[in-house]
Amino acid sequence: MALDLTLSHHLSSETKNRTPNPMKEIWRLAQSTPGIINMANGDPHHSLYPISEIAFRVPSISQDDPVNAWRKGESITQTLTSYKDEPSAVSLRSALQYGSGAGLPEVRAALEQLMTVMHPSPSENHFVTLSLGNADAVTKCFRLLGEPGDAFLAEEFSFPGMTNAPLAHKVRWVPVKLDKAGMIPEDMERILREWDENKRGRRPHVLYTIPCGQNPTGSTLPSERRRKIYEIACRWDLIIVEDDPYYFLQYDKPPIRTEDVEKDGFAKTWARNLAPSFLSLDTEGRVMRIDSFSKIIAPGMRLGWITSNPLFASHLENLIDSSTQHPHGLGQAFIAEMLAGKDSWQIDGFARWVKSLCDEYQQRRDFLARLFEAELGNSGYANVEIPEAGMFLWIRINIEKHPRYRKDQAGKSNSRALTEELFNHVREAGVMMMPGYVFAIVDAEENGSGPNAIDERSNYFRTTFVGIEETMEKGMAIFGSAVREFFAS
Ligand code: PMP
Ligand code: PLP
Repeated sequence: MALDLTLSHHLSSETKNRTPNPMKEIWRLAQSTPGIINMANGDPHHSLYPISEIAFRVPSISQDDPVNAWRKGESITQTLTSYKDEPSAVSLRSALQYGSGAGLPEVRAALEQLMTVMHPSPSENHFVTLSLGNADAVTKCFRLLGEPGDAFLAEEFSFPGMTNAPLAHKVRWVPVKLDKAGMIPEDMERILREWDENKRGRRPHVLYTIPCGQNPTGSTLPSERRRKIYEIACRWDLIIVEDDPYYFLQYDKPPIRTEDVEKDGFAKTWARNLAPSFLSLDTEGRVMRIDSFSKIIAPGMRLGWITSNPLFASHLENLIDSSTQHPHGLGQAFIAEMLAGKDSWQIDGFARWVKSLCDEYQQRRDFLARLFEAELGNSGYANVEIPEAGMFLWIRINIEKHPRYRKDQAGKSNSRALTEELFNHVREAGVMMMPGYVFAIVDAEENGSGPNAIDERSNYFRTTFVGIEETMEKGMAIFGSAVREFFAS
């Protein structure tokens, strides 16, 4: 297949220097030549695998609110089975064998179908490559694109597991300012417009963003901002790495109407309520969308998928073929059975499960928000914005009200030191929450000092509502009294 090379200048030297794994080339040739006797690869014969079937016991999605029933142990269940020697969505003969780096064709086809339903895209030219979850996928994308000396854009508070990774490849971060609705497009454009390549090197050509339930701030980009950011990316020639593990957990959406479901199916009807992804706006092939099963099935699945243009997909496959290889077969077998198996969940059933999970998390979000209100709502010491998606409350500590809050003559305060003190106080009281400064993207130019430095805005705590009510009750009670004590000290 001829690849469109229009975006090839975004590829890193590492990517350009990487040659395809020559053995995989021959393996692919063998796979695509019917009737050939393959004595080339050391692929153990399936008759020697000590597994003939794998049964996955799962909740039936024929019931209303399946997550609630499952959680209470009252669920009707069903079994999804993969076989080695009998028909199934994917045969264990291939699931347990070495396979294509991009993943088993059956799993990729099912995910492509899911993407077509959830993210109808203006470009047909998008390919699905399986990953070992978003951490694997995002860090692979950074390697695909990042050249030593590059500067990438990210939200000014971001997920350090990911933002740490390219630092080792000498990629720097440039923070884009946030407000309640997430990244501010005008600030993104200002950075690009004011960038002096003579002083600062190559203008940023990659934006890393977490568009729904942003980790840690919980914000979700409204449609209008997404359109503006995409348009800026086109104008300034950026690639958008859209890390979206919380896409399916978007709250407070209008009810799903039975007549729409009867007409278009459940998944498609639900998708119309959800924020449009950058992928769904992508006319130029510049979005690499990263999805994961971690938050909607289980993190230990270590399974996700990247949707990208075919040029980037082919280079990702080269990287996978010479490193991690495809995700493990048991997970792929499960996904194939779940999404495409006979009498299984299928795409619509999967969407029903995830929507029910979303409703459950919405209740937990509301529960934690109520506890916060009861503990600290009227105190003036802290406040929260209620997140529209994701798993986190981002609690602002009104540190400027602390009796020991000070500013020096240059306007720099002791906010960071006080936030650290509060973190230690809360921890000693028996609760762990993530202090805001853990997520702060320090602008190399500002060097972390001065009145505009991110330390001046890091007086936050990220706390999660994924736990059970008892944990949240105990945790918030301790947090509330620790904050009150801190402000009295
Ligand atoms: N190293 C060597 C020397 C091998 O022969 C193989 C398998 N052919 C591998 C690594 C890859 O092993 P695995 O399937 O465990 O990733
Ligand atoms: N990216 C973001 C923004 C996350 O919040 C997480 C998980 O917390 C990940 C990536 C990692 O996800 P995965 O388990 O799919 O690797």
